[in-house]
Amino acid sequence: MAGGAVTDATIRTRFAPSPTGLLHLGHAYAALFAAQAASPGAFLLRIEDIDRERCSAEFERAIYDDLHWLGLDWPQPVMRQSDRLDAYAAALDRLTGMGVTYPCSCTRGDIRAALSAPQEGAPILGPDGLVYPGSCRGRPVRGLTGDEAIRLDASAAFDLLGVERLSLHDSRPQHLSRAAFLSGIGDVVLARRGMGTSYHLSVVVDDAAQEITLVTRGQDLAEASWIHVLLQALLDLPQPRYRHHRLIRDEDGKRLAKRDNARSLRALREAGVTPAEVRQMLQPIGT
Ligand code: GLU
Repeated sequence: MAGGAVTDATIRTRFAPSPTGLLHLGHAYAALFAAQAASPGAFLLRIEDIDRERCSAEFERAIYDDLHWLGLDWPQPVMRQSDRLDAYAAALDRLTGMGVTYPCSCTRGDIRAALSAPQEGAPILGPDGLVYPGSCRGRPVRGLTGDEAIRLDASAAFDLLGVERLSLHDSRPQHLSRAAFLSGIGDVVLARRGMGTSYHLSVVVDDAAQEITLVTRGQDLAEASWIHVLLQALLDLPQPRYRHHRLIRDEDGKRLAKRDNARSLRALREAGVTPAEVRQMLQPIGT
């Protein structure tokens, strides 16, 4: 279904939940979408558990259990990001060696204050919140101290690559100019304070390690995919194809959230809903 150069048997997709809550119908859609897009290739599961404070073994067990209940299966062993910190550290070192990172000690309050300065114009919301105004840009990296974040110097990254735009293949080719990246996404965090990595860095390193050829994820993460494409180019990693699918919403049009336990797969199952009924609720899968 991905079409193009990827032939069906070679497609590898993944579903990559974080064990920070119970899976809900939105996750079921994402998992079924990835499994369907892979068929007859490989559908992998990856546990994104870098945020040790918010993740729990109990939610990880619930992920396996709920996905099996839905009728999904995947090759073993399952990749867990908490086992991969060395790989993320190596990628971060490489980027630092290339001169495209800097340490940042700004708090959210500092960023808000810098953005309210008259010369900054209206603050812009990027994929990770307010687009960073660059206050710490240019500071030298002196190793990970744990109390600072490491950011990508996006402008230096474009200079190094010598490109004026990024491209990715969704259901059709998409492009983003350097200027749009810098103003709308900016210097994102590659290693969060005390964590040594971030969602963006680890997902890029792991998609390459798992030889994922088609990344499927919700439209809410479409902007983040540009960060991943830039990191893949810097780290010489192959660029997968992308499919950003629709989001499952409640009756009021709001996106489902993990804290909304009443709509969890667990609650549906306990209320007697069958896996076939869940699949029915999510039709059509593939958009
Ligand atoms: N782990 C992310 C989440 O739970 C999604 C990962 C991805 O598709 O890149 O939302």
